[in-house]
Amino acid sequence: CGIVGYIGHREAYPIIMKGLQRLEYRGYDSAGIALFDGNNIKLSKTKGKVVDLEDRVAKEINTEGSLGIGHTRWATHGVPNDVNSHPHYSNSGNLVIIHNGIIENYESLKKELTKRGYTFKSDTDTEVLINLIEDVKKNENTKLGKAVQIALNQVVGAYAIAVFDKNKPNEIVVARLGSPLAIGIGEDEFFIASDASPFIEYTKNAIYLEDEEMAIVRRNKGVKIRKIKDDSLVDPYIQELQI
Ligand code: GLU
Repeated sequence: CGIVGYIGHREAYPIIMKGLQRLEYRGYDSAGIALFDGNNIKLSKTKGKVVDLEDRVAKEINTEGSLGIGHTRWATHGVPNDVNSHPHYSNSGNLVIIHNGIIENYESLKKELTKRGYTFKSDTDTEVLINLIEDVKKNENTKLGKAVQIALNQVVGAYAIAVFDKNKPNEIVVARLGSPLAIGIGEDEFFIASDASPFIEYTKNAIYLEDEEMAIVRRNKGVKIRKIKDDSLVDPYIQELQI
């Protein structure tokens, strides 16, 4: 399983697709991608291999956009099928998530959200998390980053996630607990991946998130890292990759 993301000035699609291929060694049963051109989110996903995703993308969506996230899934909650594949939308259709890991308390969270009117298309724990984020965002009237942070503080489990918001075309929010997550730092462009292999040809500078850290990655602006639990700011430690 693996995650890849891009925000910058290039077309995200080829970077993400190649990145997913590089992460294939990690094992997976499904693959998916969401691209955002500033107006429309284009999402395509399938059970099967990254080549199957490529076929499906060619039939289903236009691939324009300089923001995108891609995922290979190793199913833990919900069988491997198209619907359970990532990315997942929130109920409003404004938020999109990819997730590696497990949300252990997803059943109780799902019950609560269902009472509040949320519905679920998939059997995944991940779709619960994105709707929890949406619910927090609405109730607390906060920005995406804050909503992700509050939601993650209600979660028991393990995760590497990447989330974006249709109303925030210049940012991707990422977080990690127990699953790896690296951020490649380019010139006004940023790469997100489970390991550095998807972005090594574009930049040698990378930040490896530590457990219980989240980052808001902004196009043209940079990366702001915080501790999920106590909200303290973390000084980014940029490593030079030796490859
Ligand atoms: N728990 C999530 C699911 O089953 C993510 C699995 C993964 O790590 O790919 O959909």
